[in-house]
Amino acid sequence: MKGSPVLYWRAFYLMINIKDSIRHPMKLIQTILLISSAFLLVQCTTNKEVDLIVYNAKVYTVDSVFSLKEAFAIKGGIFVDMGTSREIQSKYVAKEVIDAEGKAIYPGFYDAHGHFLMLAEALERIDLHGAKSFDEILEKLTAYQRNNPDQRWIIGSGWDQNLWENKRFPTKDSLDKYFPETPVFLSRVDHHTALVNSQALHIAQLDTIRSVPGGRMAVDSMGNLTGLLMDNAVKLVSRHIPVPEESHLLSALRKAQDSLFSVGLTSIVDAGMSLEALEHLKKFYQQDSLKIRNYAMIGGSIRDIERYIKEGIYESERLTIRSVKLMADGALGSRSAYLLEPYSDDSLSRGFLLQEPEILDNIIKKIAKTPFQVSTHAIGDAANRLVLDIYGKYLEGDGKRRWRIEHAQVVSPTDFEKFARFNIIPSVQPTHATSDMYWAASRLGPDRIKNAYAYNILLHHYGKLALGSDFPIEHFNPLYGFHAAVTRVDQNGFPTGGFQMENAVTREQALRGMTIWAAFACFQEKKRGSIERGKDADFVILSDDIMTAPDNQLRGIKTIRTVIAGETVFLQE
Ligand SMILES: [Zn+2]
Repeated sequence: MKGSPVLYWRAFYLMINIKDSIRHPMKLIQTILLISSAFLLVQCTTNKEVDLIVYNAKVYTVDSVFSLKEAFAIKGGIFVDMGTSREIQSKYVAKEVIDAEGKAIYPGFYDAHGHFLMLAEALERIDLHGAKSFDEILEKLTAYQRNNPDQRWIIGSGWDQNLWENKRFPTKDSLDKYFPETPVFLSRVDHHTALVNSQALHIAQLDTIRSVPGGRMAVDSMGNLTGLLMDNAVKLVSRHIPVPEESHLLSALRKAQDSLFSVGLTSIVDAGMSLEALEHLKKFYQQDSLKIRNYAMIGGSIRDIERYIKEGIYESERLTIRSVKLMADGALGSRSAYLLEPYSDDSLSRGFLLQEPEILDNIIKKIAKTPFQVSTHAIGDAANRLVLDIYGKYLEGDGKRRWRIEHAQVVSPTDFEKFARFNIIPSVQPTHATSDMYWAASRLGPDRIKNAYAYNILLHHYGKLALGSDFPIEHFNPLYGFHAAVTRVDQNGFPTGGFQMENAVTREQALRGMTIWAAFACFQEKKRGSIERGKDADFVILSDDIMTAPDNQLRGIKTIRTVIAGETVFLQE
């Protein structure tokens, strides 16, 4: 316990004047006041013990006025104080002290829409992202089989026919040639389409089936299946893929978690998972086997959802289950997004809904009677209109429910105001704009594209945006999203001047979107999402300042340290 020497002197000086004061009542009062204030000061400057002090930093608190600080103190996993380096160091002593060497610090990044389990799975699958032709994919698959002859299935993900010269969807013919006996399942980059071989179709008993509600099975001119499946049809095959053992699942999730920590993420939204997966997660979190804060949404079948919401909200320190993820339509890249008018590059198709509107309405009506939040995937303008109107019916503008639309990708101009009127949170993924911009205009045509990936318009209407990456569909690095949101160009700086720049957001808005607004979309803005007293001590130190670095350097900025509840979970070597 230490006090300032100056204050001791002041107290001593006052004591020797007491005798004099007793004779003069006014002086007495003055003296008493001075003594008591001196004692208070001595107490205040006594260095309090905390767990961690971080100083000499440029701390973006992301509080309501976006204030900057130099230092903060953490105790029991909570931010207890912030201020200048001098203030914090003179007020506190800590077991651990970090000199940030002038680097920038932000609240731990929050991905408002990702798929943790899918990322874990993807790390185990054959990575087909960026493949420039189907031949390249075949090469990867045959190499995989050579090295893993015991694998019962060959599973890959990430292919995108838009990157190939012919841009045509692939068929199962060459898969059947190379893999006549082993089932093959290859997820498209958007996870809404998969290519499977005959053996996989056979295992799923789909050889003779040609139509699936809420899904598509592509056929050739002779009426034979091509192996290309969309949306609900994908599930008919994927459910036959052997599930990993629990220990294997946990180790894959831990690997995925480490990847997320390495880019500064401390909180994620797990946007829709089966009951079985949720039970696994609960168990892992109860055993303290996972550390990342997870807002896991209930997905799966409508029957599963109905069963789950009866159990009520689940809330622990790191795992929260209070949201239901529903699917309205598919994806634009697969032409399964549900549009008001036909696709500009396929006049026969408007895409489709994954379930009848009445079924969607009915389940939302049921959830409206519970405290659960609804978060619905909607890509096409028809899907967005449907969901906005159903929400509007049950919400009646109640802002406390915080229901969300995931993606809100193509919105009819007359529907934007409904986000404000019905109080609906737009949860968007800026890298979708810069990944889709090469071909989205051919799907939508010159007019509709103007109201696609319209993040600034959505922000203008609702007042907040929840930003995410949709990992593993896009890369999980939140700085890629930050870069895409503010510059609207790809990693090569294309297109010059940016894609539909009227829908870029400012750096401050983007940072809010990946911290405090993401937390708001999960009812957690009072607990996390900013560096303020009483909040969870989650923060990240970066190699450079994302608020001032040149546009073309944003994606290269590295995470130096990631901290959750005062504990370092990632440290750059
Ligand atoms: Zn998603």
